[in-house]
Amino acid sequence: ATLLRFAPSPTGALHLGGLRTALYNYLYAKKTGGKWILRIEDTDRTRAVPGAVEGIRAALEWSGLEYDHGPEKSGPHAPYFQSERLDLYHSYANKLLDSGHAYRCFCSPDKLAATREKLARTGSNSTYDKTCLHLTEEEVARKVRAGEKFVVRLNDGRLPVRPSGYDLVFKNLKDAHASLPTDPVLLKSDAFPTYHLASVVDDHEMGITHVVRGEEWLPSLPLHLDLYAALSLPPPQFAHLPILLNPDGTKMSKRKGDVRVLDYAQRGWEPKAVLNWLALAGWGVQHDASGTSTPSSSKSSKQPPDSTAIMSMEELIENFDFSVITHRRTVLDPAKLEYMNKHHLMRLMSTPEGLQILAERTLPFVKEKFPNSDSISIPYLERVISVLQGRITKLGDVPTLAPFFFVKPDCNSAEAKKMYHSFSSADYQKVVESLTARLSDMQGSWDAASLSEVLNDENTKMGMKQKEYMTILRHRLTGMKTGPSVADTLYALGPELSLARLRTGEC
Ligand code: GLU
Repeated sequence: ATLLRFAPSPTGALHLGGLRTALYNYLYAKKTGGKWILRIEDTDRTRAVPGAVEGIRAALEWSGLEYDHGPEKSGPHAPYFQSERLDLYHSYANKLLDSGHAYRCFCSPDKLAATREKLARTGSNSTYDKTCLHLTEEEVARKVRAGEKFVVRLNDGRLPVRPSGYDLVFKNLKDAHASLPTDPVLLKSDAFPTYHLASVVDDHEMGITHVVRGEEWLPSLPLHLDLYAALSLPPPQFAHLPILLNPDGTKMSKRKGDVRVLDYAQRGWEPKAVLNWLALAGWGVQHDASGTSTPSSSKSSKQPPDSTAIMSMEELIENFDFSVITHRRTVLDPAKLEYMNKHHLMRLMSTPEGLQILAERTLPFVKEKFPNSDSISIPYLERVISVLQGRITKLGDVPTLAPFFFVKPDCNSAEAKKMYHSFSSADYQKVVESLTARLSDMQGSWDAASLSEVLNDENTKMGMKQKEYMTILRHRLTGMKTGPSVADTLYALGPELSLARLRTGEC
């Protein structure tokens, strides 16, 4: 069975790139009937941010991507915090020391910096002169006994052939080792492992079959393959995901704002739409198979979905495959999210359960904008949302889109005044009074269809153009020029509020 892992470092909030990585892990695990783990990579103590783990978990929970094992969800490979697995990394470091694939290095940071500079001046590609590789066993033992600080380095010369890299997205890696530092550090002087050692050890110990992570880790893949080879362990498969760009071509980053997943939650975006958007960015370009050993799973004849296809989680799972992910940098276009969000909302609204969930999620936005609106109930919000459907881009917009559902219409706005001056006041009175009388009798059958019939009837009776007739009522009920149809507005407001506004209209 497949086993995947999402392995964030708790150095800040989860951002869109991280959520995309989690999503692809999830999709592949589900597609293959496997599981996925949340592993917290907290071995860099200088970069840890308090509360980051909680933030990452909250963001995942909002998205609906539920991991099988991880923090608070123990499983066969617990603990899931790397800081609680230090013994394991030490035992692997010792194995490497014993076999000569690693050695202790006592060089001070100052000395290392000087060495690096000297090497660079001579035009060398090396970043370390391997001084400590040549220490005798006695010298090493003496320094350790004397309490000298050391790091453990990989002895990269010990591997006769350095394995070449293959990635499910980027295919064969050329000159894979060229950019690696000389004898990379595996264990730091504080006895914490570097990311490389910890990640390889855990991926092996946990039985990870597919490592799916961001492109920024692709340059580390050769080192990881070296480590598997040095430990005589079979490596898992790797899939690196292309970097996400803003529409202006700049790299998305935590610093540029608009990338934190919880900000999307707070603004009322639909998690399903956000996932749909992330999934399809960079998906859909078939790889050309020239010169690469394309995995057999890619021989499917299925057409990749368009980047704005509205897809449910089930459809995403069914259609997902590493072979259709592009290795080109991909743009995450906010306009697409708006489109997708609107459509996901309409899908959700089509079932009573979905509508209820949306109403519940909208309530806090209404309360935030209108703190005195305590009487707003979920059934009322369900009606409001359903008559606004197709107009709502994201739930956070509902209070601004149609404030009149939550507070009395604003009759002093320029818009309301201008409307009023365009009516003849005699018509206005007549229209409102006649409809009020008519509606007072039909409180029992307050549905959009009956209301629409009554309105048509009244409109004919008044002998007015429909637009003129409806605009008068819209003004009376909402104080605004645009909004749902008058029948829908009456329906959503309900008999009591509608009649109150018609009778003692503020506008
Ligand atoms: N801890 C790394 C990060 O925060 C994850 C790298 C990996 O998945 O191997 O991006």
